[in-house]
Amino acid sequence: MKIALIAHNKKKDEIIELSKRYQDVLAEHELYATGTTGTLIMGETGLPIHRMKSGPLGGDQQIGAMLAGGELGLIIFLRDPLTAQPHEPDVSALLRLCDVQKIPLATNASSATIMLEALKNGTFFSHSC
Ligand code: PGA
Repeated sequence: MKIALIAHNKKKDEIIELSKRYQDVLAEHELYATGTTGTLIMGETGLPIHRMKSGPLGGDQQIGAMLAGGELGLIIFLRDPLTAQPHEPDVSALLRLCDVQKIPLATNASSATIMLEALKNGTFFSHSC
């Protein structure tokens, strides 16, 4: 399954921690990420990741194009709800497309943990798969 990983700047530590904790599970899938998020996760875990442009420079839209094409099975997008983002329209569009396609979307570390645990335990099910 193709999985996308994205984290706003104040959530980078959390996505790195999640990626380390679930490194074995993530290694079984094809990973995509926005530029900075991908670079950090690769540096900390060594996981191979297809990196898009940085989010504010179009990376969210590139992930969105994959979503629209039905390519992605899970999105982990750790959002910072307390900081204005210059690319908020891109973020909203991405979240909307997840609902259009019924793609599982985790927007905080607790939801992401539940989804990654399900992947680990083999109980992950989605209407999109
Ligand atoms: P980044 O993009 O991984 O390049 O920081 C994330 C985002 O803000 O959408």
